[in-house]
Amino acid sequence: MSGELEQRLAGIRGRMEQACLKAGRAADSVRLLAVSKTHGPDAVMEASAAGLADFGESRIQEARQKIPQCSGSLRWHFIGHLQSNKVREAVRLFEFIHAVDSPRLLEHLERLCQEEGRRLSVCLEVNVSGERSKFGMQPGDVPAALRTAAGCFRVKVEGLMTIPPIAEDPAEARPFFRALRGLRDRMQEESGVPLPELSMGMSHDFEVAIEEGATWVRVGTSLFGPRRKGVPDEAV
Ligand SMILES: *Cc1c(COP(=O)(O)O)cnc(C)c1O
Repeated sequence: MSGELEQRLAGIRGRMEQACLKAGRAADSVRLLAVSKTHGPDAVMEASAAGLADFGESRIQEARQKIPQCSGSLRWHFIGHLQSNKVREAVRLFEFIHAVDSPRLLEHLERLCQEEGRRLSVCLEVNVSGERSKFGMQPGDVPAALRTAAGCFRVKVEGLMTIPPIAEDPAEARPFFRALRGLRDRMQEESGVPLPELSMGMSHDFEVAIEEGATWVRVGTSLFGPRRKGVPDEAV
């Protein structure tokens, strides 16, 4: 069984290894999050058979259909913008939320995790470019979010996440990845709380993200092919 997906996965693994080598990082210091949005359970099961266990979705409506149809011990990550009326369902469906963008959402997640008897890992989404169209907190808001996080027992802030401005040349994303890492380093030092995860890099720029310290790369198109039409994508 050497399908198209397996070949694409081998290509991605190769690119990840090269980037780690170039950056002097251990190959196992970066994990691949397979972004399965718009692709069906069949694609997820094929990726799972190829050895992947972490899957990313950006819409609750889509995830609530798909996740129950996928068997095996998969870990589901929510990578989209989470609306307050979907927080309970997100807590039930996911174990990692990559884009928490306010202290208020942290508190909301903590409360619903208590009610649902769940635990959750999260990253704080930071808008390091200052683009007005983007979700994410400002870098200056991170300390307040970490103070809120200190009072959370079921929700654990593991690090930071960003989506840089769309650019043709992946190198243009470098300053934003570097800024996120610098912010993480400062916040870690100031708060004394470990923030090991940096969720950054997508299909076209994950090598650059790895060179700048990414620990999670979120890869959709390079792995599953073009997004399937007729499934709206409101994440980016
Ligand atoms: C869709 C999406 C990705 C994956 O994008 P590709 O370019 O297809 O790899 C990564 N991160 C987020 C937040 C997304 O919404």
